[in-house]
Amino acid sequence: MKTRPGSRPLVLFYVLVFYVLLQFSWWTYLLVRTNNQVAELQREILQYKLGASDNLVSSSLLLEKQKQLDDELHKRWMMIFGEGAVFILLLTIAIIRTRNGFRKEALMAERQKNFLLSVTHELKSPLASIGLQAETLIKRELPKEKQSMILSHVLEDTERLNSLIGNILLAARIDSHVFAINPQSGNFSEFLESLCNKLAAGVGQHHNVVREIESNVHFDFDNNATHSIFTNLIENAFKYSPAGSTVKVQLKRNGSSVICSISDQGKGIPLHQRKSIFERFYRTGSEETRSTKGTGLGLYITRELTELHGWKINVADNPEGGTIFTINISLSK
Ligand code: ATP
Ligand code: MG
Repeated sequence: MKTRPGSRPLVLFYVLVFYVLLQFSWWTYLLVRTNNQVAELQREILQYKLGASDNLVSSSLLLEKQKQLDDELHKRWMMIFGEGAVFILLLTIAIIRTRNGFRKEALMAERQKNFLLSVTHELKSPLASIGLQAETLIKRELPKEKQSMILSHVLEDTERLNSLIGNILLAARIDSHVFAINPQSGNFSEFLESLCNKLAAGVGQHHNVVREIESNVHFDFDNNATHSIFTNLIENAFKYSPAGSTVKVQLKRNGSSVICSISDQGKGIPLHQRKSIFERFYRTGSEETRSTKGTGLGLYITRELTELHGWKINVADNPEGGTIFTINISLSK
């Protein structure tokens, strides 16, 4: 029988919680009962002394003592219930936190498994394709145009492998906190324009790429990290929207900040997934039904690198349908 990942320790945890609660209720019951029995015995002794006393002064003293005993019993009850309430409160907090921790771990394990499945597939398929194309070139005498077409496919596959391995290594370096950026002043408009041209001619060749890039916008940025941020966002826009639709890249100055946005006309991202898409390995849908290739590292890297620069990233609905990712770059230091 197939069980959900992490469900077995969770069942054990619930059994333990049930046992603790059962024990707690039992000991509370015993404590209250023992207290009541002690109070009852003390009351009986006093009643006996009261019956035996014929002195008015000692009788009133005994009555006073009985009242004290009642007060004491009441205080003990309050103490038991007060401490019990604190215990239950702390236990509830611990249960919720532990359960959430278990669920998070299980979810991460599931995502890691999916990541391994997709990464294995994505490493294998371009390698197989490169091998096949090299074999064709070696074994067959082909006209020059056919040869260059095959070679350009080999180049595409190599680029795909390169970008995949690059993302995996980058994510590993970010995770181990050994990654630092080195921002330097530069013309961001030129940088973005040239990246757009490169991607539009490659992965975006079946899309209508609109560029609204304000010229000569200068600020400090790390070349490699920024390349990775915008490549991931623009590639996602191509990947998650239908061929022939428009992908728009905008850059404009807005007072003391710069706004850069990438919008597409794809199916969009539901509101409840907008936080999760920036988590490591997160991909929408299940690995079996997913039609697009990917590892779920792109937006994780994008968010980490954006934050390292001190920029803010946002995702929203594109008014023209689809998604719009916006990066807000503050120029005031
Ligand atoms: P890769 O690591 O190769 O980039 P990926 O594209 O699946 O893989 P992310 O870029 O981190 O991973 O994106 C995470 C998920 O967010 C995607 O699987 C996709 O479901 C969703 N997503 C990202 N960008 C868009 C977009 N523009 N439109 C719709 N969904 C998107
Ligand atoms: Mg991606």
